[in-house]
Amino acid sequence: MKEWKKNLRDIEPYVPGEQPQAADVIKLNTNESPFPPSPKVKEAIASFNTDTLRKYPSFVCPELKAALKENYPVSDTELFLGNGSDEVLALCFMTFFNSDKPILFPDVTYSFYPVWCSLYNIPYETIPLDENFNIRCEDYYKPNGGVVITNPNAPTGIYMPLEKIEDIISHNRDVIVIVDEAYIDFGGKSAVELIHKYDNLVVVQTYSKSRNLAGIRVGYAAMQMELTAALEAVKNSFNSYTLNSISQAAAAAAALDKDYFKKCTGEIIKNRTYTVSELDKLGFKTMPSMANFIFTTHPDYSGEELFNFLKSKNIYVRHFNKPRINEYLRITIGSGEEMTSLVSALKEYVK
Ligand SMILES: *Cc1c(COP(=O)(O)O)cnc(C)c1O
Repeated sequence: MKEWKKNLRDIEPYVPGEQPQAADVIKLNTNESPFPPSPKVKEAIASFNTDTLRKYPSFVCPELKAALKENYPVSDTELFLGNGSDEVLALCFMTFFNSDKPILFPDVTYSFYPVWCSLYNIPYETIPLDENFNIRCEDYYKPNGGVVITNPNAPTGIYMPLEKIEDIISHNRDVIVIVDEAYIDFGGKSAVELIHKYDNLVVVQTYSKSRNLAGIRVGYAAMQMELTAALEAVKNSFNSYTLNSISQAAAAAAALDKDYFKKCTGEIIKNRTYTVSELDKLGFKTMPSMANFIFTTHPDYSGEELFNFLKSKNIYVRHFNKPRINEYLRITIGSGEEMTSLVSALKEYVK
């Protein structure tokens, strides 16, 4: 064996959904938006002064922060921005979870969390969801090094009311509680306002789902100033300029177009209701979803078989070969047309 091989970092990475490039594919596997970004984003990019690319971007991101403040009751010093919320979350794990005690998160949740734990050597314990895939607050009352809750949860889509989120935060005042709100804009209520009440709360959101901009890689988090300062220090020990200038301009434009945002998220909610009721008629059991995806299973057909059938029809959904959830499909809510195609394909298979 080559001597240097001993020194290679050995890690099992997060596996993102496939990104098939063919044009005729119906892509319902990575929770992207079926709609283009706001027309204001197109304008912002078209009028972007490329001469400014000569310089490093602003790491204070004043324009983007000003736009976000139009949407949330926070101040500049309470906002932390990053290159996608995955980066924001990774930096949060590195900054906030330095205890010997394990951090806690559910057994069924975003599968990136254990990857960051292993990357940064953070001990963790997964807490089983109850038999209906709900989070039991009491399970999070024990000593721990931090808590991470995705709300609505992924891949179940199940939303936890804000009172319960607050219950978990208030029982964990000695550690940082991260609430990952990647899917909050499809019917849920954000915990952002609670940051003024709890100095141990971090709320993370993304441009990738409800703002139709997965390709631009922008994510952000809200928390009290002492926490943003700690995060900035870690970020500046790693890469000071995480957000490029074009992304900053485009993301600011998207945040200001509230009407378009409402129209798109409203359309997704409508298509979700349609899809759930059609799948109901075919005998599927679907978890109550407040996200831009649904988690569904059929008593007579295995998850794997349904996944393979849909793929043969050029419809990509997500199937997780994992305990408790391997009979389920996670289906992104797309356009009305895409959901009609999905339903007709399944009608053909499920007799
Ligand atoms: C999609 C997703 C993210 C990451 O989104 P970015 O594209 O990196 O902003 C974070 N958390 C959850 C639960 C997600 O589903």
